[in-house]
Amino acid sequence: EHIDIADPIRTRAILERYRLNAKKSLGQNFLTRPQILKDIVAAADISDADDVIEVGPGIGALTEQLARHAHHVLAFEIDENLLDVLDETLDPYENITIVNADILKVDLPKVVAENLDGNHTLKIVANLPYYITTPILKGLLQSSLKLDQIVVMMQKEVADRLNAQPGNKEYGSLSVAVQLDMNVNVEFEVPRTAFMPQPNVDSAIVKLTKREPWPVQPNSRDAFFKTVHACFAHRRKTLWNNLLGMYGKTPEVKESLTKVLEKLSIKPGIRPERLTVVDFIRLTNELEK
Ligand code: SAM
Repeated sequence: EHIDIADPIRTRAILERYRLNAKKSLGQNFLTRPQILKDIVAAADISDADDVIEVGPGIGALTEQLARHAHHVLAFEIDENLLDVLDETLDPYENITIVNADILKVDLPKVVAENLDGNHTLKIVANLPYYITTPILKGLLQSSLKLDQIVVMMQKEVADRLNAQPGNKEYGSLSVAVQLDMNVNVEFEVPRTAFMPQPNVDSAIVKLTKREPWPVQPNSRDAFFKTVHACFAHRRKTLWNNLLGMYGKTPEVKESLTKVLEKLSIKPGIRPERLTVVDFIRLTNELEK
């Protein structure tokens, strides 16, 4: 039995031996609490029926815990300086593939098809780089991958946005994008002191699971995400003004938008944060016509 990578003494030794300075610009805050990593793996309920995709393995602290339970772990790390480190720290495990790539640019379905057998449940588990939490989540949710579950650590404030309900000031395009397909559950909070180096914010583990389909579905998912994004472009403006921002202020646009909103019984002067997910689905489908 070797010592966990996340053990603070081992983490410090690894960072020193490789002369690694955690890069702030890449959101490198390494977790140094083995128990918290075990709790994350437990929250994700990982077994050998699962293949796991990890974003940002860092020096391998979470990757190792995942590999002990999963069938296979596929991890994407952007920082090539970490490749030699991972090679060494994860040497005891046979069921890990590290890909040196930017998660926002990689063709995820393609790399998944090349590296995983397709016979296992696909889960995402990650301690996300905080500076790109939103684009990563939106990218994963909009990809064609069949993801059964996502368990990720993020800044506490962002976790609250994922979970926000209409009318709440945290409710925005991220809440709607996530809640289209997923139930959101904030599992537990993680204090900043659990990391090396310490970030300026506290964190939370969020579990996203597939939700029961809404009574209506968007005819086009791309159109749905585009509409939601446009409607929240200026949170403090009305829905009407945001829609004009998207379609232009011509008389023709105004006339057809008026008809669409009337048909849906949505008041043009409403703020976007009052619309429910179902409102956005209906709005998208009507606008598409
Ligand atoms: N998993 C490790 C842990 O829990 O201690 C490290 C997590 S650290 C918060 C985020 C990791 O994501 C870093 O290793 C960083 O280099 C990596 N990263 C940052 N941007 C990335 C990107 N665009 N694509 C892939 N990995 C990225």
